[in-house]
Amino acid sequence: MSKVLNEDEKQYLLDSIRDVVDFPKPGIVFKDITTLLNNKEAFAFLMNHLEERYKSYHLEYVAGIDSRGFIFGAALADRLGIGFVPIRKRGKLPGTTICEKYELEYGFDEVEIHIDAFNNKVGAKVLLIDDLIATGGTAVASSKLVVDTKAHLVEVCFLMSLEFLNGTKRVGKVAPVYSVLEI
Ligand code: AMP
Repeated sequence: MSKVLNEDEKQYLLDSIRDVVDFPKPGIVFKDITTLLNNKEAFAFLMNHLEERYKSYHLEYVAGIDSRGFIFGAALADRLGIGFVPIRKRGKLPGTTICEKYELEYGFDEVEIHIDAFNNKVGAKVLLIDDLIATGGTAVASSKLVVDTKAHLVEVCFLMSLEFLNGTKRVGKVAPVYSVLEI
């Protein structure tokens, strides 16, 4: 398996993801990954690909974005034999945190990370992961948190990117981006 998927492999994964129209509100097509997760062949195929891609990166941590980034991030960290770090929505982490605000369509949201998430290791090699990037607001704020802890953000990985919203361009200004599937 190579470091990027061919078109047939991409289509196989895409076919395992369900579109739910008008969720959570009218006009949104929600990419539902639960149908990938409960399909053991598709889930293993994705995790084999991510392990193959990242095993030579000498990463020290995978950081996952609340909440679906936890699923892929924790599974990948275990495959690579490294630690996992959660980046959570405001108010969920118990220890001392740093937070980053970002703009939504209406209003603001905030993400947080434990200040000692990477064991205070300056330059720790970190991969950030989430299931999907839309506008990029969540991923840009999460990337800034990793950088603010003085870790080294090696790459930001998404299972899917909604290319028409240009989120990957925004994150690309902070760190290299890899999307398994571009939609
Ligand atoms: P954004 O900050 O606009 O890039 O939104 C990304 C976050 O919202 C990710 O954590 C995604 O899981 C979630 N999200 C946004 N749009 C969708 C969608 N169409 N389907 C599934 N999840 C989405």
